[in-house]
Amino acid sequence: MLPFRTLCLTSAALVTLCVMPVSLGAATAVDANPFAAPSTLPLQAPPFDRIKDTDYGPALEEGMQRQIVEIDAIANNKAKPTFENTIVALEKSGAMLTRAQLAFFAVVQANTNDTLDKTQTDEAPKLAAHNDAIFLNSRLFGRVKAIYDARDKLKLDPESLQLLKVDYDGFVHAGALLSEADKAKLRELNKEDATLETAFQQRLIAAAKAGALVVDNKAELAGLTDDEIKAAAHTAEERGLKGKYVLPLQNTTQQPKLSSLENRATREKLFNSSWTRTEKGDANDTRELISRIAQLRAQKAQLLGYPNHAAYALYDQMAKTPEAVENFISQLVPATANKAADEARQIQAMIDAKGKHFDLKPWDWQRYSDMVRKANYDLDDNELRPYFELNKVLIDGVFYAATQLYGITFRERHDLPVYHPDVRVFDVFDKDGSQLALFYCDYFKRDNKAGGAWMSNFVGQSKLLGTKPVVYNVANLPKPAPGQPALISFDDVTTMFHEFGHGLHGLFANGHYPSLSGANTARDFVEFPSQFNEHWALYPDVLKHYAVNYKTGATIPDALVEKIKKSQTWGQGYSLGELLAASQLDMQWHLLKADTPKLDVDAFETKALADTHTDFANVPPRYRTSYFLHIWANGYSAGYYAYQWSVMLDDDAYSWFEHNGGLTRANGQRFRDMILSKGHSEDYGPMFRAFYGKDPDIGPMLEHRGLTIPNKS
Ligand SMILES: [Zn+2]
Repeated sequence: MLPFRTLCLTSAALVTLCVMPVSLGAATAVDANPFAAPSTLPLQAPPFDRIKDTDYGPALEEGMQRQIVEIDAIANNKAKPTFENTIVALEKSGAMLTRAQLAFFAVVQANTNDTLDKTQTDEAPKLAAHNDAIFLNSRLFGRVKAIYDARDKLKLDPESLQLLKVDYDGFVHAGALLSEADKAKLRELNKEDATLETAFQQRLIAAAKAGALVVDNKAELAGLTDDEIKAAAHTAEERGLKGKYVLPLQNTTQQPKLSSLENRATREKLFNSSWTRTEKGDANDTRELISRIAQLRAQKAQLLGYPNHAAYALYDQMAKTPEAVENFISQLVPATANKAADEARQIQAMIDAKGKHFDLKPWDWQRYSDMVRKANYDLDDNELRPYFELNKVLIDGVFYAATQLYGITFRERHDLPVYHPDVRVFDVFDKDGSQLALFYCDYFKRDNKAGGAWMSNFVGQSKLLGTKPVVYNVANLPKPAPGQPALISFDDVTTMFHEFGHGLHGLFANGHYPSLSGANTARDFVEFPSQFNEHWALYPDVLKHYAVNYKTGATIPDALVEKIKKSQTWGQGYSLGELLAASQLDMQWHLLKADTPKLDVDAFETKALADTHTDFANVPPRYRTSYFLHIWANGYSAGYYAYQWSVMLDDDAYSWFEHNGGLTRANGQRFRDMILSKGHSEDYGPMFRAFYGKDPDIGPMLEHRGLTIPNKS
């Protein structure tokens, strides 16, 4: 659920172009492209009524060309390098590219088709190369370095100094300080790493497909619904296994169908299919690749002056160092082990009560855990849904909470063009009635929409560029039949609050420079505003305001609210345990030194879990080393901890609210001023410390999950 961010140096840059690259032949085409000039719509909202699917490719190409001209002009400027003619000029560059990219990413994720898919395939490598062309431009870096080296004498304001530091670090991190020989070595390492990462990804997809469980007879699938069994038979037929049943594998270790499968032998087989998918010694085995990727990354880190890859990857994160991450995880381990053990005891008691005679194993956990949950909390989703009507949740819940906290108000408008009829647009007004931003939302599931939910910007906020935020939220909530109310689950309600929390990070952005503005923040910080906003969904004043039965008008009964709250703490030992185990695998692989020989992946995994005490009984890691896509090919190396780190921040910040009067305008204003409006204009640690008066700690995070540290009251 991370917001999508472009990797470009000037990711949110938007400016009226004063200098157009001279290109006579292209003049007509450029004029015709709706991205050639800034949109004339309110707040430069994208002119979707004028944009054709075939406009994106040419706009991206022209945008890259224009930015290269701008970058060359900066790099080859005869004048002495100054903050203004180099750093600020970089911020202003790439305006057309940014316009096109932001709109393109929105539609290709939320409303794609063959033309857009093809554009993405064609343009993705070009965009990556474009980024490299900027960061590896040594004349450009020479100017950035000259300014950076003179920074103490420049009397820059704090935000400008931060921008200079972030830009300089970005270049250095990409290898700008290396000798030409070392740059060549780095390129070789990067190339091999990229090739192996692609191979890993391809083998993983093939392994997941080949690893699906094949079942010979229907009786073994007892517990699945008729539709699920039909689907399993259909999948088998598609694979040329007519008469059999196939259960495909999901990405995670645990498989959702383990909750309902009654046959224990089938459960064990399905679990083992998942656990060993990439370790069969066949063409899809990933272990050889992994031991080499780990080596390459350690060598690359050494070349760039870091002791290991984790230290390299964490340089711009809030945690900053592997030691801080290790310390964070290890603090959570005892309480998690305690809670998981307690859950295991209750689950074993349920197994015994059902007259079964076996010891709990990982493949039994979900099924019997669900039975404990049902017996103790009896929360029925169908009982809840009538209280959660989407429009009421949005207007009287999500928006209402924001009005109470931050004083902002919303008004729907129907005059702006959208990329699909389901998209809605709202004006957002500040406390003084002035226009703050535009907010778009696109909540309903579609076949041509990527899964999950996310937030991003069509236009980023920047005082330098004179732009206000145009922010959007996308989700995949079930669309009702025409004329019917959209009744959603409490999970969906939470998703809406979550994404709007990212939205607030964008809406309240108040920075000078586009690249430090809004949600352009570190991986271990970016989920803080979103998860923080989730808390208001269950806050009594807010909940009573939106959770009203759509038929009867009755407010949600307190007993039902209590059930929601209680049921939320069940299972936290398991879910946190599997995340911590995976986080430690990620860290241990990326703490290796450059001279480490190729390792035995399984032996290393077993030892890493044992050494870090994350080998919780019957709680295997959420992803095993050999199928851990996030860390081997998805850019999350030494970063899987970030989700939980953000949980620490949001629970701690919420506890500050609880200790200071809860939902009030004054408290909201403080959070807006000190966190939500800041983007990356300051370092995250000092930002949090200024807000709370102390560093974040794990106390509230444990408490909200019903976890207690052993031997403490
Ligand atoms: Zn998120």
